[in-house]
Amino acid sequence: MTECPKCKCSKITTGRLAVIGRSTPIVAAFVPDALKWYQFSSEGGAELQSQAFACPDCGMVWTMAAYPEVLREVVSRFGSAQ
Ligand SMILES: [Zn+2]
Repeated sequence: MTECPKCKCSKITTGRLAVIGRSTPIVAAFVPDALKWYQFSSEGGAELQSQAFACPDCGMVWTMAAYPEVLREVVSRFGSAQ
């Protein structure tokens, strides 16, 4: 990932997604809006990679799904609600 997907700036910084105040790594997941909290524990979301990217110009922060096939499954079942 060499440029920001939003503003096309090339000054990308790599890092990781973290919860402020926690020293241990967390596993983050993409959960579609249509997937409600009471479904989340049984259905889950799509686990994200630990590596993340940030654009200092526009503030965009992004990452990738750890398993794209799981993301496709989650989105096909619960996604595309705009
Ligand atoms: Zn940007």
